[in-house]
Amino acid sequence: NQKIILANRPKGAPSIDNFAFETAEIKALQDGEILLKSLVVSVDPYMRGRMSDAKSYVAPYEVGSAITGGIVAEVVESKHNDFSKGAVVVGNLPWQKYTVHNGEGLNQVNPDVAPLSYHLGILGMPGLTAYFGLLHIGDPKPGETVVVSGAAGAVGTIVGQLAKIKGCRVVGVAGSDDKIAYLKDELGFDEAINYKTAEDINQAIADACPDGVDVYFDNVGGEISDAVYYVINKFARIAICGQISYYNNTSPATGLRVEPILLKKSALMKGFIVSDFAKDFGTAAKDLAGWVKDGKLQYQETITEGFENIPHAFLGLFTGENTGKQLVKVADR
Ligand code: NDP
Repeated sequence: NQKIILANRPKGAPSIDNFAFETAEIKALQDGEILLKSLVVSVDPYMRGRMSDAKSYVAPYEVGSAITGGIVAEVVESKHNDFSKGAVVVGNLPWQKYTVHNGEGLNQVNPDVAPLSYHLGILGMPGLTAYFGLLHIGDPKPGETVVVSGAAGAVGTIVGQLAKIKGCRVVGVAGSDDKIAYLKDELGFDEAINYKTAEDINQAIADACPDGVDVYFDNVGGEISDAVYYVINKFARIAICGQISYYNNTSPATGLRVEPILLKKSALMKGFIVSDFAKDFGTAAKDLAGWVKDGKLQYQETITEGFENIPHAFLGLFTGENTGKQLVKVADR
């Protein structure tokens, strides 16, 4: 069996040297256990936080232990009454080709409902994040202007489309011309801005939002966010979902003091973690699945092939290699 461990903690940007591959025997199954074969592995920006030992909302990874994250896996052997051979599960699992597990915390998925990878994307954590952050915190009304940063990523692509479903004018900010074209031509965003080539990001945001900004869904922080705050409207709602532009910082970021703007504009800024909404996951997943089925929500994935390429796929999140959800296909079912 092969696994990927945290070899050491990154200082600043993570690199391939932070990971190491190990080989081990697969132990024999005891009663109440299942053997899982990893099929699709999710790599996510929050994992960068877990590679550090700073206290956060999830415990740090241990140096020398396997990295864990969202994985879709097949039950290939079972000594557990609730899981039969051939069943497919999704859960938080180690970056291993095979895992012996007691079944706790795993969800069985119906492989006939949607492609298996969807359970790590639009029907999983990123989809739920977009849903609750936009609809419960952003609370968008028809005709309002919604700006989303990190717009071409897993969460951002869904946020923008949900805002279109709600009848809003949608402006996305992302890091390449291909991504900008994709947002406008394929997903129906009204405007999209390449923050890497924009001469003056403040001006670009102001030009794209002539009526100001009513809802800001923030995935990145930094100067992109500052530019949005300069044109935020009275009673705006700001959902702080992610701050990826700071995740590799070694000291706290500084910039615009936003409080006077929130005060003058009676604006609401709220951070959230998707698990805050856990009690309503069922309804949200049903809504999302319905929109996908009706063709109202398009879903994009960037799929890297091969277990050995999981670290590279993860690192690519910080250089914008992915459009939509970044996944790694490890094995066929
Ligand atoms: P994405 O699919 O959006 O991948 C990350 C993207 O971030 C990259 O493709 C890149 O796109 C962009 N990016 C990377 N570095 C920077 C930077 N310095 N400045 C601006 N953009 C950058 O990831 P997810 O959709 O999974 O996650 C998006 C955000 O949401 C993350 O911040 C994540 O931590 C957060 N999140 C929060 C959750 C919560 O519960 N609050 C749950 C899930 C995600 P580009 O080419 O545009 O630069």
